[in-house]
Amino acid sequence: MKTIKFLFFSLLMISFGLQAQETEQQEEPKAEEHYNINKFRQLYQEFSTPNQYRSASGAPGPAYYQQRADYKMDIKLDDANHHIYGYETITYTNNSPDALDYLWVQLDQNVRQKDTKSALIEGGGVNPFMRPSDFASQYMKEPFDGGFNIKKVLDSKGNALPYMINQTMMRVELPKTLKTGEKFSFDIEWDYNINNHVDGRGRSGYEQFPDGHRAYVIAQFYPRMCVYNDVEGWQNSQFWGRDEFALPFGTFEVNLTVPEDHWVDATGKLENRKDVYSKTELKRYEQATKSYDKPVIIRTQPEAEKLAMMPGATKTKTWEFKADYVRDFGWTSSRRYVADAMAVKVGDKDVMAVSIYPPEGNPLWEQWSTYAVAQTLKSYSRMTFDYPYHKAISVHAKNQGMEYPMICWNYGRPDAEGNYTDRTKFGMISVIIHEVGHNFFPMIVNSDERQWTWMDEGLNTFVQYVAEQDFGENYPAAIEGLDAYPSRRGPAAKIVPYMAGDQRYIAPIMSKGLNTYQFGSNAYSKPATGLNILRETVMGRDLFDYAFRTYSQRWMFKHPTPEDFFRSMEDASAMDLDWFWRGWFYTTRFNDMGLKEVSKYYVSNEMNQAMKDYAKENGIPVERIKEAGLVYMVKEDSEDFDAALKGKQPGEVVSGIDDYLKENFTAEERARMKAPKYFYEITVEKPGGLVMPIIIEYTFADGTKERVTHPAEIWRYNDKKVGLSKASDKEIVGITIDPDLETADIDVSNNSWPQQPKVDKFEEMRKQ
Ligand SMILES: [Zn+2]
Repeated sequence: MKTIKFLFFSLLMISFGLQAQETEQQEEPKAEEHYNINKFRQLYQEFSTPNQYRSASGAPGPAYYQQRADYKMDIKLDDANHHIYGYETITYTNNSPDALDYLWVQLDQNVRQKDTKSALIEGGGVNPFMRPSDFASQYMKEPFDGGFNIKKVLDSKGNALPYMINQTMMRVELPKTLKTGEKFSFDIEWDYNINNHVDGRGRSGYEQFPDGHRAYVIAQFYPRMCVYNDVEGWQNSQFWGRDEFALPFGTFEVNLTVPEDHWVDATGKLENRKDVYSKTELKRYEQATKSYDKPVIIRTQPEAEKLAMMPGATKTKTWEFKADYVRDFGWTSSRRYVADAMAVKVGDKDVMAVSIYPPEGNPLWEQWSTYAVAQTLKSYSRMTFDYPYHKAISVHAKNQGMEYPMICWNYGRPDAEGNYTDRTKFGMISVIIHEVGHNFFPMIVNSDERQWTWMDEGLNTFVQYVAEQDFGENYPAAIEGLDAYPSRRGPAAKIVPYMAGDQRYIAPIMSKGLNTYQFGSNAYSKPATGLNILRETVMGRDLFDYAFRTYSQRWMFKHPTPEDFFRSMEDASAMDLDWFWRGWFYTTRFNDMGLKEVSKYYVSNEMNQAMKDYAKENGIPVERIKEAGLVYMVKEDSEDFDAALKGKQPGEVVSGIDDYLKENFTAEERARMKAPKYFYEITVEKPGGLVMPIIIEYTFADGTKERVTHPAEIWRYNDKKVGLSKASDKEIVGITIDPDLETADIDVSNNSWPQQPKVDKFEEMRKQ
């Protein structure tokens, strides 16, 4: 899913964020405390202990198991009354080592029950501003009755099974204990009122058009098995409306009976295309399977518009779909649909990229949707594994951004005259890339969305950024006038307003999605940006990409946990990233470092003040120190500078060094050795609590530059301040920390030496 709800609030936060509060203690910790709060200590306390199910490497262990749920369903859509009727047979396989006495089934539509408790957990008081539709549904309308009406729960012999419903969860009692390796089949019959998703929100429902017809995007429409696994037992945490789902894999055989003039698509292979497509549509579809460079329109806009002018068919048609090993099933149906498709090569296979939209989506949808689907399949397959399904469908549904296996709903609609802004266009392309991308996370790499929003949204938003940039390169016409695709999330600088914001409204990424403030920044932007920082700055693309692919491939068609991700990234790269996971995922700390001081030094035979002080403190006779034949670094502006240097020029090798060289190297070797002329000490301070690499750029008097990246481990002894030393043949005239804004440093006004004239920070952030 994509969130836009918090955008307004994030904008407000930007202005508050400028007065960032540093809450951490500023004094230097004692050695013992230093050990306990050391930001480089391992995550042993935070991580669960590796076991037979999940290995310390981050891979599935030798005893890893997962449950299976196979579904057969007959679904009827009553378009006139916007009502759905369903009958399903679930075959549940217990692969766990545990014996089960009951099964838990999810009844997501019950968030739309008349007496739902969902609204009762919102404690924000009176909303200062509301959309009229929200005002009407909250204060004026009779509550909508959209919960499941469960008519029957039967075993395979037709006997009623006892069950209990607790809000969105249903416990089905088993007639006898289901042992390891055993299967149990049971039937559920249900129906419910379909909601208007434009008026009342929701990820499933219909849009009502002025001509009296509707477009349906239907999901969470059937009682769905919960996940049972080694980390949660039953994942039967209630569905409150925002946090998403946890679902086991299985095969789906679904018959969808709808009015005969509807165009339908769904998760899975269409088994009876010849019965439901017209001859012309079949011919166009065949053409599309051979068209790799542009989409072929299968059902045209005039054809859809003609149907929309008629009263609507009363006869029905049944569309038969079968999907092997998916975690869910979604479908769409309307007589007002235009459809196009093209073939995409993924590995040695052809995948169909498909778009379905009402005429209201044009001209935008016809132009870009299917290309966006195609780019997603290519970019994500490169970053993870080859897309394993035979199709990916993007359906246009107003205000929607929601994903299911092989099919997703996306927003982005021109105005009534067909005009649209860049914001609408890029919003549409981005949401398509995002939702189609969800096929990889969490539809195939099947994490628990209910518990860990970032595991699908964060990882997906990260790859979305990569795919958006690819899209900009491959379709220059789409980004005309811009240097690159205008990605909203990914680059480090874009997360600064959130990181610098009021700590009262920030939660660690490792929080349950339901419980976090600023959901979009917390679960989408911040993890995506963190991965981008790892890839571009900490690990480098080669190491990162190999490790990211390793994680993705290890957990394809399985259920990973956060540790499986963290461990795999380290296991495949030989990088200890515990410090990064700890800071970025487990805390709300931010990065802020700056240049405190830059000092120039010269090398001298004359004893410097520091040595004199040391000798005095320790009672060492000066004569004895002189015998040691040391050379001394003298600070340019120190009191003893003139005396120590005694007319020597920078770079002049002092006698002590000269003697050493003569004794140890041949004249030929000495000729190749060059003494640096300038010595600098650069003191970097770090008011921010995060540790990050120090990226430092030196500009020399001749205009050349040199960039050095000190790994984050440079902060392992002192979390507040470090001293860097730089010897150079050329005089340094400028120093900049993090010149390309790669580390989400929240205050860059102290990142340059000599200090740059102050710029208005709000202006700067606005421009980014
Ligand atoms: Zn999403």
